[in-house]
Amino acid sequence: MENLTNISVVKDILSRHGFNFSKSLGQNFLINPTVCPRIAELGNAKEGYGILEIGTGFGVLTCELAKRANKVVAIEIDSRLIPILKETLSEFDNVKVINADVMKVDLNQTIRNEFQGLKVSVCANLPYYITSPIIMMLLENHLPIESITVMVQREAGQRLCAKVGTRDTGAITVAVNYYATVTKLFDVNRGSFMPSPNVDSCVIRLDIHKDRKLSPKDEEFFFKVVKGAFSQRRKTLTNTISSSMAISKCDVSKALESIGISPSTRAESLTMEQFIKFSQSLQQVTSL
Ligand code: SAM
Repeated sequence: MENLTNISVVKDILSRHGFNFSKSLGQNFLINPTVCPRIAELGNAKEGYGILEIGTGFGVLTCELAKRANKVVAIEIDSRLIPILKETLSEFDNVKVINADVMKVDLNQTIRNEFQGLKVSVCANLPYYITSPIIMMLLENHLPIESITVMVQREAGQRLCAKVGTRDTGAITVAVNYYATVTKLFDVNRGSFMPSPNVDSCVIRLDIHKDRKLSPKDEEFFFKVVKGAFSQRRKTLTNTISSSMAISKCDVSKALESIGISPSTRAESLTMEQFIKFSQSLQQVTSL
């Protein structure tokens, strides 16, 4: 197998295939040899598991996943990479590459068709331009997966791993924590990639909760409230919810007071439990 973390091997592939990196597709490929084995091991790539990978690049992480898991299905948007992957993944008969935009693939069906009898996890070095939409899409689709282990920009990682109810919290923190327990695994510096990005990265894991506290109807309203609550971070919850959801300030205050929260509170100081209670009391007060 070619060593895809060896710069001369990578340069040889680049020149033979006339490949040049696409900045707009977030193509920063891993060349630090220690990172992919760690992602694979911490991301459930092992006997009994099928791994869904998003964004293969030259296949450096795909190889480490394929060595350890029963099967890997890898989705890559850039068709220029397909002939390269035929070469770099040639020794594996347990990898299927799908040339598609992950946001347009029916992942529930893919998992049903490709991973019968296996537990499933997602592993990826995510393209940074679309990190949050991909994570939210994976969670909102209620996929039958155990975990999502992904490399993200370090700042995004901090936001995702923040404790709900602290200053670093954003709408994405609450949304992600609703579905999963989020853990930061390790930092990766910018020199680990080719080409090197302008930011450092980190690897995080989302362990999906097996049961949830709200019904689907509440869930939709809950997410509207969370999104609205963080739409103007500096304002009070009463003002942001009132303007973003077109609800009178009086009703928002009533909903907050009924669960013992001051109407002048800001979104970042609410815990997950308080968010859930607030969305329920707001729904009752407004009959929405
Ligand atoms: N896994 C490789 C590695 O670690 O070296 C590549 C990671 S690179 C940061 C992100 C990869 O995602 C690129 O290969 C890019 O072409 C691919 N990609 C970008 N947008 C995508 C999308 N919407 N769907 C699927 N793949 C995408």
